[in-house]
Amino acid sequence: MTPQSEDFSRWYIDTIKKADLMDYTPVRGCIVFKPDGYELWERIQQAMDKRFKETGHRNAYFPMLIPESFFEKEKEHVEGFSPELPWVTEAAGEKLEEKLALRPTSETMIGHMYSQWIQSYRDLPVLINQWANVFRWEKRTMPFLRTSEFLWQEGHTAHADEEEARHETLQMLEIYREVIEQELAIPVWMGQKTPSEKFAGAVDTYSVEAMMKDGKAVQAGTSHYLGDNFAKGFDIKFLDRDNKLKFVHTTSWGTSTRLIGSMIMVHGDDKGLVLPPRVAPTQVIMIPIGSGKKREIVLNKVDDFVTDLKREEVRVRTDVRDETPGWKFNEWEMRGVPIRVEIGPRDLENNQVIIARRDTGEKLTVPIDQLIETVKGLLNEIQTNMYNKALQFKAAHSHVHIDTLDELNKHVIKSEQDQVIAGWVLAGWCGDETCEAKVKEETSFTSRNIPFEPPLNKETCITCGQKAQHTVWFSRSY
Ligand SMILES: [Zn+2]
Repeated sequence: MTPQSEDFSRWYIDTIKKADLMDYTPVRGCIVFKPDGYELWERIQQAMDKRFKETGHRNAYFPMLIPESFFEKEKEHVEGFSPELPWVTEAAGEKLEEKLALRPTSETMIGHMYSQWIQSYRDLPVLINQWANVFRWEKRTMPFLRTSEFLWQEGHTAHADEEEARHETLQMLEIYREVIEQELAIPVWMGQKTPSEKFAGAVDTYSVEAMMKDGKAVQAGTSHYLGDNFAKGFDIKFLDRDNKLKFVHTTSWGTSTRLIGSMIMVHGDDKGLVLPPRVAPTQVIMIPIGSGKKREIVLNKVDDFVTDLKREEVRVRTDVRDETPGWKFNEWEMRGVPIRVEIGPRDLENNQVIIARRDTGEKLTVPIDQLIETVKGLLNEIQTNMYNKALQFKAAHSHVHIDTLDELNKHVIKSEQDQVIAGWVLAGWCGDETCEAKVKEETSFTSRNIPFEPPLNKETCITCGQKAQHTVWFSRSY
């Protein structure tokens, strides 16, 4: 496996392949989610879905094919998405009258349906989420982070007024923060996208941004206040209490299988994956050691432990394959399993087992009668430790005292020479898009978001030196 410090992208690809999370297919940019990769997604889904439902949303499913004419109804939307759309032009041997796009996102189809479902204020709000696949024909792909087809959820809501719709937009962003921080152990910055980075057709876009171990950012989730842009495009009107016909205010919000890639890039190390216990498909791997007659005694004891751990809802597996213990240790370390339990005949004689933590590499000797309690406690401790480690990393690579492009350039160039990662830069911005574009041209850093709670407020624009209107995170990104 390529070490992270040598080539981070290579390390990433090596790791996800060796850990058996995915495979490539003959269709460019389309991957298979193998069972361990898919189970990570299922656990993220469950954590999200539970919170969506607690806040009054329900799931529905809309078609994958969208008529071309739908895209014309919202000008910015069509401009934003048309370069990446794959089209269906033919079916049953005949050319279609109107070509159909494979959805890149479903605002248009859902907008069309909402216009028929919503008549009166009594029909509002509409709070729907969809779990689906979407397509964006990307030129450069990277498994989980950027693929031509990916899995996601997209929430689409309609409200009677702006205040309620804006509240919804931020509520869902907060849910994303909670799931990503609590379940995936990834600290994020919440904030607002600059106008040039917002969703095509949105009034305002908000994001949660995470820092990978190479210092680049991943936009981990977005939530959009769409105003009445789509309501006007699709004629979604309702008769209000005052007997006036009004356009609804809509929102949309999404997270995707990018979260899997982010989790790997935030926590992984040169031995492979390091998975947060809350989402790890296997939380504990049992490795029985020893051969011959004694092996049977060991296996019986291991079975007892497995039964007890399962009763406590711990996801546990036993590796009885005909391989050496050392080979198995490497294998399960590479797969990122949080806890390894080693049990041999001598351990049983001494009434103890050996526990190894994946996050710290630490080994502990634990009395047999304390194994179950120790494992349960450790799973929580590992989850917290992984979050804190990522938080420290993010703080150590966030630069808040760079005030000019020159300083940023020196910092970036220095980083490349020293093989030190560049990280994120907190910069003042005057609000002029040409200043934002110049940062990208000269440093390849792009604006991530305008954080709700910046660590400090910047006085001057990093590009022109004029008074700053906003304080913005800039970085390279995936
Ligand atoms: Zn400026």
